[in-house]
Amino acid sequence: MKKHALLSASSSKRWLMCPPSARLEENLPEEKTVYAEEGTFAHKVAEVFINFHIQKINKDEFATEMNKLSKSPFYTQELLDYLDIYISFAVEKINSIKNGIALIEQRLDFSQYVPEGFGTGDLVLIDENLLEIVDLKYGRGVAVEAQDNTQIRLYVLGALNQFECLYDIDTVKMTICQPRLDSITTEEVKVKDLKEWGENFVKPRAELAYKGEGEFCAGEHCRFCRARFTCRKRAEENLKLIKLDFKNEALLDDTEVLKILNRIDEIKRWADDIYTYALSLAVNEGKVWEGFKLVEGRSNRKFIDEKKVVEKLFRYGLSEGEIYTRSLNSITALERKLGKEKFNEILGDFVIKPQGKLTLVKETDKRPEFNSPQEDFS
Ligand code: SF4
Repeated sequence: MKKHALLSASSSKRWLMCPPSARLEENLPEEKTVYAEEGTFAHKVAEVFINFHIQKINKDEFATEMNKLSKSPFYTQELLDYLDIYISFAVEKINSIKNGIALIEQRLDFSQYVPEGFGTGDLVLIDENLLEIVDLKYGRGVAVEAQDNTQIRLYVLGALNQFECLYDIDTVKMTICQPRLDSITTEEVKVKDLKEWGENFVKPRAELAYKGEGEFCAGEHCRFCRARFTCRKRAEENLKLIKLDFKNEALLDDTEVLKILNRIDEIKRWADDIYTYALSLAVNEGKVWEGFKLVEGRSNRKFIDEKKVVEKLFRYGLSEGEIYTRSLNSITALERKLGKEKFNEILGDFVIKPQGKLTLVKETDKRPEFNSPQEDFS
């Protein structure tokens, strides 16, 4: 069995928007990131905890599993604290089931809509007429929400395929829990609407994607495409901006600035990708780009053996106060040490959150709009 499907649910947003991207990136090297590894590890830990809570494994089995997991560099108190949010949420959901089942890390087959499509649902719950899938997202770089989320929708189509014959399901709920962003979001849809989406939207695009056909389409989804560095369509779309019909005047006016602002995030990302690609070839394969050279960046001096440095300084006659600088541990480190509750009890009154650096973002951004103190006052 292949480990990754060509049309995976996790990359579905991309191949649904740009069907030929699936085959285009098929032979490009996979990008393994430490964040992905950490995410996989977090899922394993959560699975063991939930299985223990619902008595699927006993105390000894739990201890053995946790002992193995605790050897990983990803195993930290911070990870356990964050996972606790998901685990408590999941256990509460499982315990509230009146008439149905709960499945953990359930393989789901949605090949009825997507060729060879399968994936794993972190938590699948069926209770009377309702089917719910809860998906854990351990990352914090990109906020993921349940609304219109194609990945979890495909999982639900897979779950319906498997369980509809056993349960009379008419409504589905899709929930995403992203504990590091303190976010739990849910979308509820009628089964018939989701199936219609699967038949009329997903199926035709998946067929095109599987055959490597359809139109290339660049957009925000390009950031997770392995072809993003050298994709011609993406380059063309970004270069189109340069050809915008600007006025023949020395200074840009507001309308022209706004046109650029609307595309600035994608252009910055694209420019960074091109730079990363060129740099990586120069560093790793000795590629020479005409007119460019590799240089060393600025670096700071550092001691190679701090223990010996301290010994020498003591021998030289310096006191401890002259050798070391005492500094307070960070808020995060102290919070980890004391636990959230104790930290708030002891130090809550001494913590303030200064105003963050102001950033101009699109209106659709989920963060609340900043109001200046004058505006607040009025
Ligand atoms: S980079 Fe964007 S446009 Fe190019 S193949 Fe990937 S998703 Fe499609």
